[in-house]
Amino acid sequence: MTITEKIIDLQRSLPQGVTLVAISKTHPTEMIQQAYVAGQRVFGENRPQELKSKYEQLPKDIQWHMIGNMQTNKIRIIAPFISMIHSIDSQKLLELINKEAKRCDRIIDVLMEVHVAREVNKNGWLESDLMSYLDTGEYRGLDNIRVRGVMGMATYTDDITLIRTEFNRLRTIFENMQKVYFDGDKYFDTLSMGMTSDYRIAIECGATMVRLGSLIFGERDYTKKE
Ligand SMILES: *Cc1c(COP(=O)(O)O)cnc(C)c1O
Repeated sequence: MTITEKIIDLQRSLPQGVTLVAISKTHPTEMIQQAYVAGQRVFGENRPQELKSKYEQLPKDIQWHMIGNMQTNKIRIIAPFISMIHSIDSQKLLELINKEAKRCDRIIDVLMEVHVAREVNKNGWLESDLMSYLDTGEYRGLDNIRVRGVMGMATYTDDITLIRTEFNRLRTIFENMQKVYFDGDKYFDTLSMGMTSDYRIAIECGATMVRLGSLIFGERDYTKKE
């Protein structure tokens, strides 16, 4: 299948209410165009410089999502145009994004990344740290960010039971946050989980947003020079 056909196929097969973020990191703009002509408008990248360059070259109705962890000095590069940042793992990052969004007179949507996987090298808040931070209520004073929900990754494994347990945990965290801290907030609506290898399980567990890269664009070549 071509990239265009893959997108059309996903548009047909993903349930209503599940947003597809096409993860285009490392892939050239020509490949993004092929997804775009099929109607795909939401794309995710993990490097600020690459994001900016693609933003400049591609149609302006694309919504760009940042999915990777970020050095704080790189926020300024993407703040003028980024639509959502999935990878908030600290109070410091949240406050900096708020500051940069304010400079641009924008509101940036963000997701709290929560660490539930077995791998220690994965990013994200520990659940207890996130709840302690939310308890302070300080996020309410950040007028230029909008907390839209939770993002997470399951352990990379063949053990479907473990993957399901981790996605269910993310959903529980999302629902608790909704109840305790974001009650009545119509913008708190996003649970971003599921990649190529596990998105079907993620959807069963309540994902409202999936992040698919290799399924759409094929394997990534990290050795290629950009
Ligand atoms: C690269 C990446 C994806 C997409 O992974 P695939 O397995 O290619 O679908 C999703 N989420 C994050 C955070 C990523 O870094």
